[in-house]
Amino acid sequence: MTDPDRRMAFPNPMLVVVSGPSGVGKSTIVAELARRHPQVVPIVTATTRKQRAGEVPGVHYHFLGWDDFAALRERDGLLEWAEVHGNLYGTPIDQVRGILAAGRDAILTIDPQGARQVRARVPDALLVFVKPPTMKDLTRRLRKRGSESAESLERRRRDAEYWMADTGDYDHVVVNETGHSAEAAERIWEIIQSEARRDPPRRPQI
Ligand code: 5GP
Repeated sequence: MTDPDRRMAFPNPMLVVVSGPSGVGKSTIVAELARRHPQVVPIVTATTRKQRAGEVPGVHYHFLGWDDFAALRERDGLLEWAEVHGNLYGTPIDQVRGILAAGRDAILTIDPQGARQVRARVPDALLVFVKPPTMKDLTRRLRKRGSESAESLERRRRDAEYWMADTGDYDHVVVNETGHSAEAAERIWEIIQSEARRDPPRRPQI
C-alpha cells in the first residue's frame, strides 16, 4: 500500500497500548500483530535492563546505561517511564510522533504503571489489557521462561494479581489463551479497526 492509500484507508492513526502482567505474552502477540498488519508499528522502548540471550539491540529494546536513560528522561524524551522489577523502562516520544505522523498506528508494549501514565497524558490513547486464562497458566509461563529466580517469580506473580484486580483504565481486555497468541493478535487488530471507525475519532495528541 502506498502512503496516500494508507492515509485513505486509515485516516485516524492511533496510539495503542498493550499492557498486562509480566509473562502474559504481550511481546509475542504484538510481534505477530505487526507481522500480519504493517499498519501497526511497534515502538522499541528503552531500558536499563541487561540484554538477554537472543535479544537484538534496537530491535527488542534500546539498551541504555542508567546515565543515558536519565538524560533521555530529563530532556522530556520519554512519553512515559517506570521502574519494573528493578530496572527502568521508557517509551521514546520521538518514535511515537514519527509513526503517527506517517499515518500508522503506534503500538506500545508496556507495564501497567506506564499504561496509567499514557492514559493520563493522552486521553485518546487506546488501552488494551492482556490477561492469562488463569493465574496457574501465568505462573507456568513465568517458570518456563527460566530467567526468573524463585523470589523474582513470586514478585511477578504478586504484581500480576494486583494489576489484574483493577483493569478499569482499559478500553478492552483480551485473554491470551495458551498457544493461541495469533488469535489474540487478530482480536487486537479487530479492536483497532473498530475503534478507528469510532465517531468522534480518537485523536491522540502528543
Ligand atoms: P522484560 O524485562 O521482561 O522484557 O519486561 C518487563 C516488563 O516491562 C514487561 O511487562 C514489559 O512490557 C515492560 N516494559 C517494556 N518496555 C516498557 C516501557 O517502555 N515502559 C514501561 N512502563 N514498561 C515497559
